[in-house]
Amino acid sequence: QYDRVYNFSAGPSMLPVPVLERCRDEMLNYNGTGMSVMEMSHRSKPFIAISKRAETLLREVMEIPENYKVLFMQGGASLQFAALPINLRCNGAADYVRSGNFSTIASKEAAKFIKVNIAGSSEATAFDHTPLQEELTLDPQADYVHICMNNTIYGTKFPYIPKTGKVPLVADISSCILSEPIDVSRFGVLYAGVQKNLAPAGMAIVIIRDDLLHEPAAETPLMLNYKLMADKDSMYNTPNCWSIYVTMLVLEYLQSIGGVDEMARRNKKKADLLYGFLDESAFYIAGARPDCRSMMNVIFRTDSPDLDAKFVAGAAERGLLTLKGHRVLGGMRASIYNNMPYEGVELLVDYMRAFEKENG
Ligand code: PMP
Repeated sequence: QYDRVYNFSAGPSMLPVPVLERCRDEMLNYNGTGMSVMEMSHRSKPFIAISKRAETLLREVMEIPENYKVLFMQGGASLQFAALPINLRCNGAADYVRSGNFSTIASKEAAKFIKVNIAGSSEATAFDHTPLQEELTLDPQADYVHICMNNTIYGTKFPYIPKTGKVPLVADISSCILSEPIDVSRFGVLYAGVQKNLAPAGMAIVIIRDDLLHEPAAETPLMLNYKLMADKDSMYNTPNCWSIYVTMLVLEYLQSIGGVDEMARRNKKKADLLYGFLDESAFYIAGARPDCRSMMNVIFRTDSPDLDAKFVAGAAERGLLTLKGHRVLGGMRASIYNNMPYEGVELLVDYMRAFEKENG
């Protein structure tokens, strides 16, 4: 109808068509207010209702316990790499597990503020897996343990939630939020940039257990202060209103299709189709170790960078876009986030089969 493509980008990524249609329909006059959400004061009644509803829906679909606060913060997930050590600092040391690019960046950013202990790493095997529990060396005195749940570039995911005893577990869930159920109560903090499974870029969601909220050091920038943001319902300053609005719409849509359980079923079906094909093929090489494969980012390549480039170009001609792998890995990456329809993955596999026949 709209001549849309299947966009396999790692983020920003696809949004549900019904959500885009609602944005369009409400663009000139949101709910009888005579203006768009973009033009509205963040202190106005209609916008406060949007923000509250976005939070309520998130709490419902993720089953967030009462003793957790939800913050809508700006600066994407990357700004949280600094916010975490600044706000959670007590003893002044934290454990970081390196399982890929973003967890490594997060650990280096934290090291500007606190002592960082690398509690586990899969760097030696080119981040082909997420470290197992028995590979972790955890410090019982650490202020927190940080992991990146889904590794967007390397296509891996923690298949388990690390046990950290009394030490709060902090997880970056940017590239897997709402893709399958997650037991929030196992975590001290969950955070995510919204531009993969939820909304336009420029915002991060932080879900934090309330006993971890305390006044950070005096020099803490206002915009990084979790306690201030929690006390002000994420409205200390002008928030990312548009992103909050689309978050609300996407969550309404998610709820209408049956919530996270149904989304997980759909995601598994997509991932099974793609990995199933990869496993049968002698032409394509899958990137991640099978026991920790991501349902969201599927890494693969042929044995030749020239063929990889030909693959990506041919895919684009068929409306299958942004399949080029991240520059650190080369090859291909298909990001099949929540809002990638099953048909997109079917078309991709059809194309992969045809390309193999022609070039194998
Ligand atoms: N963490 C993960 C797992 C990511 O995939 C990304 C972005 N791709 C980031 C953090 C950084 O997010 P942002 O661009 O929102 O700062």
